[in-house]
Amino acid sequence: MATKQIRGAVLNQIGAAAPFAESKPITVDTVELTGPAENEVLVKIEAASICHSDLSVVNGSRPRPTPMLLGHEAAGIVTELGSNVTEFKPGQRVVLTFLPRCGECKECLTDGKLPCAPGSKTNEAGTLLDGTGHLTRDGEEVKHHLGCSGFAEYAVVDKRSIVAIGEDVPPAIGAVLGCAVLTGGGAVLNAAQVTGKDTVAIVGLGGVGMAALLTAVGLEPAKVIAIDANEQKLDLAKEWGAHEAYTPQQAEELGITADAVIEAAGHPKAFETAFKLIGFGGRMVTVGLPAPGAMSEVEPVKITGRAQTIIGCYLGSAVPKRDIPQFEQLWREGKLPLERLISGSFELDNINEAMDALASGSVLRQIVEF
Ligand SMILES: [Zn+2]
Ligand SMILES: [Zn+2]
Repeated sequence: MATKQIRGAVLNQIGAAAPFAESKPITVDTVELTGPAENEVLVKIEAASICHSDLSVVNGSRPRPTPMLLGHEAAGIVTELGSNVTEFKPGQRVVLTFLPRCGECKECLTDGKLPCAPGSKTNEAGTLLDGTGHLTRDGEEVKHHLGCSGFAEYAVVDKRSIVAIGEDVPPAIGAVLGCAVLTGGGAVLNAAQVTGKDTVAIVGLGGVGMAALLTAVGLEPAKVIAIDANEQKLDLAKEWGAHEAYTPQQAEELGITADAVIEAAGHPKAFETAFKLIGFGGRMVTVGLPAPGAMSEVEPVKITGRAQTIIGCYLGSAVPKRDIPQFEQLWREGKLPLERLISGSFELDNINEAMDALASGSVLRQIVEF
């Protein structure tokens, strides 16, 4: 297999102190990339964006092995195919998705409801789906992030980690389709199965929450309610089509409820807020990822007495191959204005600063282009 020298953003240790602009846990280094092996594809990355799941690895709330080449929300161009890849062509544009679906395990046969078991295992180990890695730095192994490692000029990924997109999709839009949109939009469409009669509440207006909001608004349900502690985000949500917007405290005081509640903050307090919002016979979809061990308090009698449902939803209960083209088409028709999710761009060398910006809550998605 050929070896390429690439520049990439490597996280050297988890749990560094903020601000990361000072502790600099990520360095942009020359890394050796081998492959593709038989079921893999070499992708020239066009654009990648920073997601909260990148930040969660950096700050240690989602522990992963290091050193690790970060980045999982990315889009690029197929450059080289493994010997067993017939589904893609060189020059084709693709979106990277953060959980490969082997297509064969019991979990993969649930229509997206459950995450692929082998894919989850190799994601945790920091390898590609076949259990191997293709990255080294001065001879030392560098782990893959969620089968992607998109903060680099090139990535080698399993063919089940990518989905083809059209020539007309800008690289930045392609990048956000792979995680924020699949997760937030999938929570609305696949897990909550929102219909026109529903009142929908979105708790937590980060990238995933805003993607959920845009998707919900596009469905034209009875009402869309936005909930966030940050009042600026509430104003933005109203501008983007939310009918009502409240802080968690206001929502509680007013006794607001909804048929479908999407928890997209990934914080135990947000889980409690979302739980209180579930109406009679309503459902709550929890798509955020709080730190392991974080606990929430809920009143179980309400679940019974009000016949409520709580739905766990990883990656928007999505089947990327089925769902990305659907979101792509909604964007094309102007029904899903994903440009709004993109707050700005950054240079790869400034990735620590960009992580600080995301942590501050002042931005949704920041894009690096290669
Ligand atoms: Zn993500
Ligand atoms: Zn599977």
